[in-house]
Amino acid sequence: MHELTIAKNLIDLVCEHAAKQKAERVTAIYIRLGELSSFNRALHFCFDRVTTGTICEGAKLHIETVPLTVYCDTCQCEKRPGGRYNFRCFDCGMPTPKVVAGREMQVSAIKLDFAPSAWTSARLINSNCQSAVACFD
Ligand SMILES: [Zn+2]
Repeated sequence: MHELTIAKNLIDLVCEHAAKQKAERVTAIYIRLGELSSFNRALHFCFDRVTTGTICEGAKLHIETVPLTVYCDTCQCEKRPGGRYNFRCFDCGMPTPKVVAGREMQVSAIKLDFAPSAWTSARLINSNCQSAVACFD
């Protein structure tokens, strides 16, 4: 199951990162997920399964949806397209194939329980996940 592999990789990275910080437990994972990604529901579905037995077990999963944004060459600015499968500029009607945002899957933050105030930015996680999620399109 493709989603399960991606979810597992993601949790592995979070665990690895948390271990480096010498955290005992991960209490929350914050993920930015592009509107175009079909991963949202799948991630919730897989989450319990892939976190069981890890230091992420019992962590709260927070998903922030990143709206789809495209770049219109004709208007020369960023636009919100009319719909998920409508990549034409609202204003000029030209195709806008350049997706600026909306495909990403990033761990934006994790919360660790050894110090409640310790918020760790986990940007290093991006590259791996992003290439994997691209397969869904
Ligand atoms: Zn335009």
